[in-house]
Amino acid sequence: MFGDLLAQPVRPALGEKGAPPDSLAILCAWADEIRAGHLGVRANADNGADEALARSRGAEGIGLCRTEHLFLGPDRLPVVRKMILAVGEEEEAAALDELREVQRGDFAAILEAMDGLPVTVRLLDPPLHEFLPDVASLDLKAAIEGLSAEEERLCEAARNCKEQNPMLGTRGVRLGVVKPGPYAMQVRALLDAAEARATAGGHPVVEVMIPLTVTGEELARARSWVEDAVAEHPAGRLEVAVGTMVETPRAALKADELAARADFFSFGTNDLTQMTFGFSRDDVEARMMSLYLERGLIPANPFQTIDQDAIGELIRLAVTRGRAVNPALKLGVCGEHGGDPASIDFFSRAGLDHVRCSPYRVPIARLAAAQAVLAMPSR
Ligand code: PEP
Ligand code: MG
Repeated sequence: MFGDLLAQPVRPALGEKGAPPDSLAILCAWADEIRAGHLGVRANADNGADEALARSRGAEGIGLCRTEHLFLGPDRLPVVRKMILAVGEEEEAAALDELREVQRGDFAAILEAMDGLPVTVRLLDPPLHEFLPDVASLDLKAAIEGLSAEEERLCEAARNCKEQNPMLGTRGVRLGVVKPGPYAMQVRALLDAAEARATAGGHPVVEVMIPLTVTGEELARARSWVEDAVAEHPAGRLEVAVGTMVETPRAALKADELAARADFFSFGTNDLTQMTFGFSRDDVEARMMSLYLERGLIPANPFQTIDQDAIGELIRLAVTRGRAVNPALKLGVCGEHGGDPASIDFFSRAGLDHVRCSPYRVPIARLAAAQAVLAMPSR
């Protein structure tokens, strides 16, 4: 196979107009030939600048746009808080309209940077308290100098949103069930941006991803929110694929239920690792991972390199059960493992269609994906 490739003229480096291709670009171009039709490489990125970087490094689409990162910008946070604090439908609708406006701009920049390539937008995932100030520091301020009326309201909201185990609490699709407004707003803003892009002569390819789904009923409900928004949108029917993250053991085990309602799955291997090992992502790595590695209790950090024994078994099982129900189901991975060569080899053998990683890891993923394809026994 290399003989054929070496006989071909080298393609110019991606995104570098006129510049002589450097050796990495040549290698990556060869790798692309090898993995074409087997294992795609997309990037995880949340803004137009990162997306442009990802594209210049050869990403074939955006695999995960974490929309919460857009909400955390200093100009966005006050509007998000307005939405959380809103009393009554009218106030909430006004705050959501304001957010729709800024999200539309965010999505427009993303779709422009990735024109013609698929962009997977994940609806809001984190618990709402992440957008509110810390209760303890507000309590301290209250004791020392008192709080403004606005701060009093924020403090009360933060207390109401506080959960003992927020990573297992009101987050992901559950947010959409408990507070439907933000999800509907995000889908509408995305449709607005896609319509504007298409009107300008572009080719938006949009996918909406639902986080943390664990039952078929949840996904059916979430899918209907997206489909209703598409049907009601003034642009008329836009093509929007709807899929889900598979990031809990239940979701993997019940992949057949989910696949009946999904166009694609993306394995959220960060959460899947956390929830299957029962290792908190926030605590275990810092406190005990190095000790566990030193003492040989685990062979590698499972947050970096996929644990093929257990997480791998869940993924293989979900692939088989999902495809049995929906043979057209597209399968990807968007946890940190999507940029790790050893994990990419596993994902290739498990039959995934693409991996998704940070823009900086895209060249590594392109090379690792080609190596994984070359190592496949059928070749
Ligand atoms: C994951 O859980 O693997 C994932 C990509 O989602 P996040 O890291 O945002 O929870
Ligand atoms: Mg996750």
